Amino acid sequence: MKRLEFHISYICQHKCIFCSEADRMDNFKNYPLSLLQIKTILIDRMKKWYNHVNFTGWEPTITPWFLELLKFTKKLWYKIYVWTNWVMFYSEKFAKESLKYIDELSLSVHWYSLNTCWKQIWLKYHFNNFPIIVNNIEKYKANNNFFFLNIVINKYNYFDTEKIINFVIETWYDFKQVLVSNIAPEWSAKHNYIDIVFDLNEFRNYIPNIIKKCNDNWKILRFFWLPTCILEEDFIEYSNDEHWEERHTIERFLNKNWKVSLIDIYSPDNSRERTFVDKCNNCKWKKNPCTWIFKKYLDFYEF
Ligand code: SF4
Repeated sequence: MKRLEFHISYICQHKCIFCSEADRMDNFKNYPLSLLQIKTILIDRMKKWYNHVNFTGWEPTITPWFLELLKFTKKLWYKIYVWTNWVMFYSEKFAKESLKYIDELSLSVHWYSLNTCWKQIWLKYHFNNFPIIVNNIEKYKANNNFFFLNIVINKYNYFDTEKIINFVIETWYDFKQVLVSNIAPEWSAKHNYIDIVFDLNEFRNYIPNIIKKCNDNWKILRFFWLPTCILEEDFIEYSNDEHWEERHTIERFLNKNWKVSLIDIYSPDNSRERTFVDKCNNCKWKKNPCTWIFKKYLDFYEF
C-alpha cells in the first residue's frame, strides 16, 4: 500500500483544546486548496502507484466539494480514509452519499458526557448530535466501510478512556478499531502543552482495563505516540509504532520568502518531535518498535 496523507482543508468549526492544527489554520485559512488542484495531485500520485489516501486537514468533510472529491478519487481506484470530527454526518443525505465511497472512517470522540465534551470541545451540540450521527452512519454503511474510533487522550480524559470506549459501544457505532492517541506537541498543541499534558506513568495504570474492555468487545486496539515501555512486555502488540507504514504528507507550507505553497513530507517512521533518553540506551525496543518520547514531554515529567 502506498499511502498519501492529504491535508485538504484549513477550516474547522470546533475548538478542541488539544488541536495541533489551530495555528496552521490561521496561517492558511485564506489559501484554500481548489478541487482542481487536489484532483491534479491525485492523478499524478496515482501514476506513481499511490493507492491509499487519507483526507484530513482540519475538518475535510466541510469543504463544499467534498462529495465530488470522493467520487473522483474512487474512480482513480484509491482506498479512501477520512479522518473527521463527524459533524457532516448529521446530514442523512451526506452520510448516504459519502459512505458509498469511503473505505475507512475515523470518528474522533474524546468524552462520554455533556460535561466531559464541553471541557474539551466547548460545543454542547457536539454531544447532543452524536446519536443521530451514529444512526446515519450505521443506516448507510456499505460493505467496504471499516470504522475506527479515535480518542485523543489529554489531561482531561486520560483516566476516562475506558468509559469513553464504553459510551461509544453503547451508541451502537460498530467500529472495528480503537486508536488511543497521545497528544502530539506540535503547532498549537505545543504552545498549549502545559494545559493538556499528563503523566504517562500514571496513565500506565489504566492500560490493562482499556485492553480488557477492547478484547471483551472484539475491538482491535492501538496506542499511538506512546513509548513502548509504557505498554510493557505483555502489551507491545498494542503499540501503533509497530504497525506504522511509511507515507507522504501533502500540506500547506510557508516558505522562507513568506510564500504559501504545498509541501510533500516523507515519513519513513513515526519519530517526529521524539527523542531517546538515557534509559533507552540499553532497551531492546529502541530500534523496533519504539519511536521514543516527545521532547516536549520531558519539560514537564521525568521519563
Ligand atoms: S526505547 Fe526508550 S522510550 Fe522506547 S521503550 Fe525503550 S526505554 Fe522506553
